[in-house]
Amino acid sequence: VGSNLDDPVAQVGHALSELDELPRTHCAARSSLYRSAPMGPQDQPPYVNAVAALDTALGPDELLERLQEIERRHGRVRGAQRWGPRTLDLDILLYGDAVLSTERLTVPHPGLCERSFVLVPLLEIAPQLEVPGQGSVASLAEACAMAVPERLEAAP
Ligand code: ATP
Ligand code: CA
Ligand code: CA
Repeated sequence: VGSNLDDPVAQVGHALSELDELPRTHCAARSSLYRSAPMGPQDQPPYVNAVAALDTALGPDELLERLQEIERRHGRVRGAQRWGPRTLDLDILLYGDAVLSTERLTVPHPGLCERSFVLVPLLEIAPQLEVPGQGSVASLAEACAMAVPERLEAAP
C-alpha cells in the first residue's frame, strides 16, 4: 500500500480498512506506516507505505480488480510518468506461494526483493516469510541496498 498525494497517511489508513472490508476477505495483519524517499522521479513528495496480510477467497485476478477499484475511488490518476506521484497504489506482493506471470499480473511482485519500503514492513508482520524462489524476507531485507524507511509512530 503506498501513497504520496493528498494526505498519504490518511490515504494508506483508509485503504487498509477498505482491504478488510473486501468481500470474502479478512485483514489478518497490517504493518506500521513507513515514510521513504520516492523511487524513480525525485521531484515528488515522499511516500508513505504499509503492507497487509489478507486471508481471502478471491482469486488473484479478482483481487487485483478489487484493488484497482479502491485505487480509483481514491482518485488514482494514471499519468504517463513511470513511478509518478499517486494518491494510492495497491500492489499484490505475494499470493500464498503462487508464482504467476500473465499480462496483468506478476506474482511475486517483481520489485519486492529490492525495495526496502516493502521488505521492512513485510518483515514486521511476517518475519518467517519466504518469497518463492528468492529466499526469506529477512535475508532479502538484510541484503537490500536501498535506504531503510522511517517508521511512523501510530497516532495516539
Ligand atoms: P511497480 O509495479 O513497479 O510498483 P506501479 O505500481 O507504479 O509500479 P502501476 O501503474 O500501478 O505500476 O501498475 C501497472 C500494472 O501493473 C497494473 O495495471 C497491473 O496490471 C500490473 N501488475 C502486474 N503485477 C502486479 C502486481 N503483483 N500487483 C499489482 N499490479 C500488478
Ligand atoms: Ca507499486
Ligand atoms: Ca501498482
